[in-house]
Amino acid sequence: MTMIMQVTDEGTQYAERLHELLAEFGVNPELEDEIDEISLLPAYVLAGASIRTEAHSHGDHMHVVAITVEIADELEQAFYETLAQVLEASAADEDEDEDEDA
Ligand SMILES: [Zn+2]
Repeated sequence: MTMIMQVTDEGTQYAERLHELLAEFGVNPELEDEIDEISLLPAYVLAGASIRTEAHSHGDHMHVVAITVEIADELEQAFYETLAQVLEASAADEDEDEDEDA
């Protein structure tokens, strides 16, 4: 498995290639206000990634410590191709919505 993204209390780390792909679609992970890392998780899953959540509990409450997005090594190339298609499709949906509003 290759880690492509990890969200922790300390911030978010991206694989270089994911970072570049997001930038191509106008998502700039450098600007924290511009991206909600969590909102893109479904797109990663649709592209074949697995999400591992680490949490610990204190009786009746718990903390999520880390959310890690991973891809099987043999799927890594296809992951990026598919993610680009998923992001393209969702960008097209947004364009349609704008047309409907106009
Ligand atoms: Zn705790």
